[in-house]
Amino acid sequence: MTVTQERPMTYAKMRGLVSFFSALLKGKKVGFSDFLNKFVSSQHLCQSLDTQKLIRRQSKLRREKLEKANLSSVHTETSQMKPSDFDYLKVIGRGSFGKVLLAKHRKQGGYYAVKVLQKRMIIKRKEQRHVMVERSVLMKGLQHPFLVGLHFSFQTPNMLYFVLDYVNGGELFYHLQREGSFPEPRAAFYAAEMATALGYLHSLDIVYRDLKPENILMDREGHVMLTDFGLCKEGVAVGGIMHTFCGTPEYLAPEVLQGYPYSPTVDWWGLGTVLFEMISGMPPFYSCSKAEMFENILHAPLQLRSGMSEAAGSLLEGLLERDVTKRLGQSRDIVELQEHPFFTFINWDDLLARKVRPPFIPNVTGPCDVSYIDPEFTLQPIPASVNERCQAAEASEAFLGFSFMNPAEYVAAKPVS
Ligand code: ATP
Ligand code: MG
Repeated sequence: MTVTQERPMTYAKMRGLVSFFSALLKGKKVGFSDFLNKFVSSQHLCQSLDTQKLIRRQSKLRREKLEKANLSSVHTETSQMKPSDFDYLKVIGRGSFGKVLLAKHRKQGGYYAVKVLQKRMIIKRKEQRHVMVERSVLMKGLQHPFLVGLHFSFQTPNMLYFVLDYVNGGELFYHLQREGSFPEPRAAFYAAEMATALGYLHSLDIVYRDLKPENILMDREGHVMLTDFGLCKEGVAVGGIMHTFCGTPEYLAPEVLQGYPYSPTVDWWGLGTVLFEMISGMPPFYSCSKAEMFENILHAPLQLRSGMSEAAGSLLEGLLERDVTKRLGQSRDIVELQEHPFFTFINWDDLLARKVRPPFIPNVTGPCDVSYIDPEFTLQPIPASVNERCQAAEASEAFLGFSFMNPAEYVAAKPVS
């Protein structure tokens, strides 16, 4: 991929300029005609709702199984895992409290993304609750084709570890940075996959709340994967409210910004900002002055890019509606989006079954390929602290109950391929 001068410098491009130049990119685009053909199949909403129900039911069963397993494990902090069970190969990301590393399980040989958090930093910033929420959300038995799964969590005296599926197609916005913007059908595909994941979380009374570019990954087949459940709020039914403030300015919903109570519709605003950025190359209401951007989010009229289809414009207006009572998704959640003309060509059943061919397939050579990960991370040395020598998984009071092993792992440890 070379840098061309034909396209104007976009916000997305600016954000990724450094990595854009330094990364060795191996993109491969799939013909859009194939993709469009896939889309031009009939929409079976009812069937898709059945599929959703089925996924929910499976998830409930899994949750019950998990709860049983947890009851028996809660006294002993039983995840038997320890840092030395893994070989740490590369740094692949940075979170608020530590790093995310590509690691290989020494015995099973599977590759995982291990998110390592420093307890000291979490306690200093009084964020124990968020971390425990992330852990409890991840272990709720969530199982969805577009959500990153948790295999284990364990702790040492100084660190917390989340062992997650390694998603190696890069951040979705890494790809957006390279291309400036996506054609509408491609943006529709990603938005639809994200919408099903958000709808699924809402059906379990979980609000994702932190939809932003860095948390949207692409797997090796080109499907979207949402990661980072640190800011999820549990126990919020559709129509319910919350009062906590968190998030990244560009993607904040007005009600969050103003400190008003907010509900699952906050995620539909988030999806609107991400969809807007995919189609236009920059977030809605963007300004390089933070104060002005806040002001824009609260009051500026939504400016749609010329050339945008009517359906895209109307969906964005519906999602980026400041009045939450009028926002698309407010009363019937994802169903309202599924009925929108922008998604007419989406076959929701096929989408959920991962049968729709993604519009772009990352050219990864294997499960440990890091070519789509920003070299800003992969060139960093592995911090010695992640290999903290500690055989017994000692629990600190602040993180009691953190350690966890997915019951699937008891039966047969399943390598991530
Ligand atoms: P923040 O709160 O600042 O968003 P965080 O502490 O919640 O950060 P994550 O967002 O979970 O951390 O992870 C940081 C980065 O690591 C992500 O933006 C992503 O690039 C990478 N990453 C996280 N999970 C995975 C994964 N399962 N596979 C591959 N990369 C991942
Ligand atoms: Mg994050």
